[in-house]
Amino acid sequence: MQPFVKSQPSRSGLWAAAAGHNGAVACRCTYVEELYGDEAEAYARGHLRSDELDEDALHERLSCPDTGRRWVLEYPERTGQDAGQARLRLEPT
Ligand SMILES: [Zn+2]
Repeated sequence: MQPFVKSQPSRSGLWAAAAGHNGAVACRCTYVEELYGDEAEAYARGHLRSDELDEDALHERLSCPDTGRRWVLEYPERTGQDAGQARLRLEPT
């Protein structure tokens, strides 16, 4: 089991790293369906390509440049200004 890590990114910094990653994170899209917290954000920023961002809803659609699989990054625990823990899940095809 992965330990759950509580992360509380600021809204202003949340998407700052969305562009310009270098693909250093290996593709796990064929055998991972869900990631949480820091690991979810690190995977999204380090590997996935951002397709569509709804910053107000803290909801982002992404896709894998290698396999074309689609992902959704969201913050289901969000309350007010606290974004809570990220959740990255594979979209059913
Ligand atoms: Zn991938």
